[in-house]
Order: sequence, then C-alpha cells, then structure tokens
Amino acid sequence: MQKAVFVDRDGVLIKAPKINNRPTSIKKLEQIKIMNGVIPGIKILKKNFKLIMITNQPDVYRKKVKKKDVEKINNFLKKKLRLDDIYVCYHDNIHKCRCRKPNAGMLLLAKKKWNISFKKSFLIGDRSSDVIAGKKVGCTNFFINYNYNEKLPNKKSCYYVKSFYKAALEINKSLKNKDNE
Ligand SMILES: [Mg+2]
Ligand SMILES: [Zn+2]
Repeated sequence: MQKAVFVDRDGVLIKAPKINNRPTSIKKLEQIKIMNGVIPGIKILKKNFKLIMITNQPDVYRKKVKKKDVEKINNFLKKKLRLDDIYVCYHDNIHKCRCRKPNAGMLLLAKKKWNISFKKSFLIGDRSSDVIAGKKVGCTNFFINYNYNEKLPNKKSCYYVKSFYKAALEINKSLKNKDNE
C-alpha cells in the first residue's frame, strides 16, 4: 500500500485572500501566489509520498468563479508542484454530497485509485473541515493555524503548525522514527 500526503489548496499551497479574517479562493490564475516553503516542502515529501491535493471549490456553484478558471489554477499547480493527483468538490452545502470536506469522499476516492493506507498517510490543512475529513479516515493531521475567524480544530485531532514547510519536516521526521522502530 502507498503512503500519501493529502494537501488542501487555499491557504496551504497557495495564498488565500482573506475577507473578515476568513480565507477565500482566488478567481484567476494570474492571482496565484504559491506560499513560502511549499516548493522545498513538496520536494522533501515527494521522496516518500504520493502528493494529492483535495479542495472544496463551492464558489463555482455560487457563480463567483468559473469552473474553467479553477481548472486552470489546479492544472498549473499540478504541473508546477508535480502533484500526483487532484480532487475537487464543486458542490455547496445544499447538495449534501459526500466529497465536500469535512466529508471524506475525496480521500476515499484517492485511496481506491492509488491503493493508499490512511494509517501511513498525512493531511495538511488550514481549516477544521480539512482536519475533520482526515480524522474520519484515520490520517495523521497537520493544521496550519492562521487564527481565522472561525472554529479551530480540536488539538487532539491534529498537530498545530506554523507553515507547510514545518508540517513537511515533521512528517519526514516521523517517517524516519518509524523506520527505526
Ligand atoms: Mg484551505
Ligand atoms: Zn462535493
């Protein structure tokens, strides 16, 4: 079975513009800004893990963003960061879908396709919905805390970190520890 690191997009791989101290999604590829430390962090993780982006993009349904533009942004990231796969939920709450985080649908699809062991896998997010999804399937979760104006995840369900790079270092370290057992 494979090991994976599941990564959220907005606020994790790329900067998420904030409104009322809550993260939003960019609308156009031209607005993209890869977060500091993401490129070296990915490089570290790439050696041992499949890298899979999972992202909620409800703004498509809300008509704030065009699906075509989300796809452009995601394809750019896939190439630039050499991501193995990308899963997107375009639904909103009213659709009651299985993929919208905090539901674990995207993680389950990826598991099936890539033969992933959740127990050996990690998730990096910046909202409690990310952490809850990871917790549901039994990943080890890292939470990048920006102190958004919303409910933060329970500290028992994740490790709080300052950045993607810090999470990548911790994941790499835990892997080494495991190998020594
Ligand atoms: Mg996010
Ligand atoms: Zn969905």
